[in-house]
Amino acid sequence: MEHKFLSLDWFKSRVENSIDRVIANKIENLIEEPAVKEQKIYEKPYIGIKLVNDTLTVVLTDGSVLSKPSATEEDYYAILHARDEYEILAVMASHQVVADQKAIEAEAARIKALQQGIESLSVLPDFTVEGTTVYLTGTSRSLPQLLVEKFIEVVDIAANEPSDVPFQEYLNQDDTYVALKNFFMWCCLNPRAEVAHELYRFLNENSFRITRQGFVVALRNVVTLHGSPELVHFISNAYNKVKAVWKKNPDYYTIFLEHGEYKLVHDSALIIPETHTSTTCPECEGEGQYEDWDDEPIFCEECNGEGEIEPYTYTVDVPVDHGTKIGGLTELYLDLPNREENRFTDDWTKTFDIRIGQVTSMPMEKCNWSTQDCAAAGLHFTADQIHYVGCGDQSVIVLINPMKVVGIGQHKGRCYEYLPIMTVPREEATRILHDGMFDTLQLDEDYAIRELESLAEKAKEGFATESKKYEFNMPAISASEINTIVSNLNDMKAKIVNRVVTIK
Ligand SMILES: [Zn+2]
Repeated sequence: MEHKFLSLDWFKSRVENSIDRVIANKIENLIEEPAVKEQKIYEKPYIGIKLVNDTLTVVLTDGSVLSKPSATEEDYYAILHARDEYEILAVMASHQVVADQKAIEAEAARIKALQQGIESLSVLPDFTVEGTTVYLTGTSRSLPQLLVEKFIEVVDIAANEPSDVPFQEYLNQDDTYVALKNFFMWCCLNPRAEVAHELYRFLNENSFRITRQGFVVALRNVVTLHGSPELVHFISNAYNKVKAVWKKNPDYYTIFLEHGEYKLVHDSALIIPETHTSTTCPECEGEGQYEDWDDEPIFCEECNGEGEIEPYTYTVDVPVDHGTKIGGLTELYLDLPNREENRFTDDWTKTFDIRIGQVTSMPMEKCNWSTQDCAAAGLHFTADQIHYVGCGDQSVIVLINPMKVVGIGQHKGRCYEYLPIMTVPREEATRILHDGMFDTLQLDEDYAIRELESLAEKAKEGFATESKKYEFNMPAISASEINTIVSNLNDMKAKIVNRVVTIK
């Protein structure tokens, strides 16, 4: 049984219907922004153009003059509509020369942009730059180039926003920036450097979605063990979509059962004010008199003893009938692992106990660390190619700590632990992680807090387990580096606690 009001589309339509205009506007702005930038790029790339006999002459914006003998009218119009200098060069020069020239200039432009970008990172306390190699300060694992480019892009966007706090401080409030930083901090704690590097490439090529805490959001299939997990679907979808689509606090929602259907109700709809009109004197409640301490009757001055006054209105809050109350959304979500109908397993071994809201794990030492072999041991996941990750009747969204990824292939990866956070309706499985309105940055915070517990010990253990398996090519990490990373990640704990309290 699918509930139409649980679907991603239902949640999105409620945003569009002005439940959260701010979010909608924000998204519109994001869409408009690149368009504006593009217009700038397409300014006329030349000052003048002239075709005399068969000689075409073009004056570029920097004053340089190009001319082409034996030009055609076609060449003339091609220049007239050229959007940049490269297109002009393409017309003015011979084909082979142009192809090389274009490639060289494009590469030069890319390197120049990258160098400028790296310079913009080098002035920030969060980054340490050595030549063209970029590190997060305090770590010894270099950022993969794709991630450097992503950081440059995020920093560039933030630099164009008006702000009155120091820039680094401003960045630390930017969800995307914080998410990327946390993501790579966790990667640094993964004993295998190449897995961490591949993971970003994998996410970039597939559907790159992470949470604010830096966890990877992925999909996998599972097998339902009990026949009727409707309430599990309802609770897990409502909880996560309230956060990811509406950006609201699930604490303020209650689930009811009405006419055989589950229903999500905001606190503000639990009661409605009812207005009444009355002439009964409120002082003596219509008696004309009231009793004092000694039960002596006292004449009511308010109504002159008549019990009636001029008509007046008053409001009372009346509970609205929504059916049978199942419970608060947050408390129900946190209690999911205890619900008997919340039982799934894997199709391959049929041995894993998989529950929404509870981590599924296998012993770290039983996974073989590999970047190639996808049939190898480990818990499989995908970014969006759901058909690759095991059979089953149910897709689920899982969160994965990058520190716990053991292998990355073309379309799927393996880890030794994941947290299933919600079931995904079949028709949403291929698109939910591509949907910009489903903001994964807002997903689970409690998992992050649990992951931070005794993190330094767990990280050291991971590197130790790894060194026992391989006697060569051991990744090196110092205890002080682990401590730096752990303390950086711990910063999010205080922020999460604040956030949970203040979110509305
Ligand atoms: Zn009275």
